[in-house]
Amino acid sequence: MKRIKFACLVMVLLSFTACASKYNSVQHSTEFFAMDTYVNFTAYGENPEDALGLAKQRFIELEKLWSVTDENSDIYAINHANGKSVTVNEQTADLISYALQTANKTKTFEPTIYPVMTAWGFTTDKNRVPSAEEIRELLQNVGSEKVAVEGNSVRLENGVQLDLGAIGKGAAGDEAVRILKENGIRSALLDIGGNIQLIGDKNGTDWRLGIRNPFGEGSVGVLEISDAAVVTSGNYERFFTDENGNVYGHIIDPSTGYPADSGLASVTIVASEGKRADALSTAVFIMGLEKATEFWRENRNFEMILISQNGEIHLTEGLRERFSLNSAYDRKVYDIV
Ligand code: ADP
Ligand code: MG
Repeated sequence: MKRIKFACLVMVLLSFTACASKYNSVQHSTEFFAMDTYVNFTAYGENPEDALGLAKQRFIELEKLWSVTDENSDIYAINHANGKSVTVNEQTADLISYALQTANKTKTFEPTIYPVMTAWGFTTDKNRVPSAEEIRELLQNVGSEKVAVEGNSVRLENGVQLDLGAIGKGAAGDEAVRILKENGIRSALLDIGGNIQLIGDKNGTDWRLGIRNPFGEGSVGVLEISDAAVVTSGNYERFFTDENGNVYGHIIDPSTGYPADSGLASVTIVASEGKRADALSTAVFIMGLEKATEFWRENRNFEMILISQNGEIHLTEGLRERFSLNSAYDRKVYDIV
């Protein structure tokens, strides 16, 4: 069964209007459903239709390779190999290597968390709270050191399962961006279920993106940005509540096997690549403010907007001039330096 997510985490504020600007460009969009979410690619240019068609085709190809449920996917083959090595597409091997590196660096992003996700019912939408004993047992099969990549061969230890759900949309977005650029597109906005990937700017000015209010309707503020990937993760997007009112979100802390509870309501990552923004939005959400700040200082290859459970907003240096708070959102904004 397909889970349909309506969440649009980063909202595109300005409506798209066909524009006859100095670039003499037209606007064209393609919309489809892939990777469990709604996708909209909008490009500006002299003749964007063909480029958009190719980008869409590539996106769907990658969905087929990386789906955890499609029996013909690379990931399915890897997950059902019973400890044997499987030869996969080069792009799959590269993305798994990148996921393993990210797991190593962040200690929170964990592409082998899938069996724990399943135990909580997030993969089937039959949510339940597993026992501590069950979680302890499942965690024995979690860990990126249980995955070996050699060239285009991938091998999992018995009982281990791989899932690229927290990175696939970003990586496929990067491929779509590459293909659009290769086909002459200099201005585009890709909305992949709320992951936003931007090519260039819009008619010479930055794109204006609304950052969703995790506590209610509307946005907390506006981010003005060009040529970047902007990805938001939050637990308000997919969660369930038990009979005692406890709320369980779909991002799992691999050190405990329980939904992340780090004091953050949402994390928005801005990076040059979709795959980095996507992986880090998940990783930083689990880290929480303090660890995330430390991690940002050590790496500095991304920027972030953190919204705490108490509503406060924390921005890294590079976004200070790019983010403006909505006047209706009356919480404090802090700089991370
Ligand atoms: P979404 O794709 O729902 O917008 P994310 O990019 O944050 O949000 O990814 C969440 C997905 O990542 C989950 O649905 C699950 O498949 C997977 N996931 C959950 N916890 C982790 C984790 N610690 N590391 C990597 N992937 C995770
Ligand atoms: Mg992610």
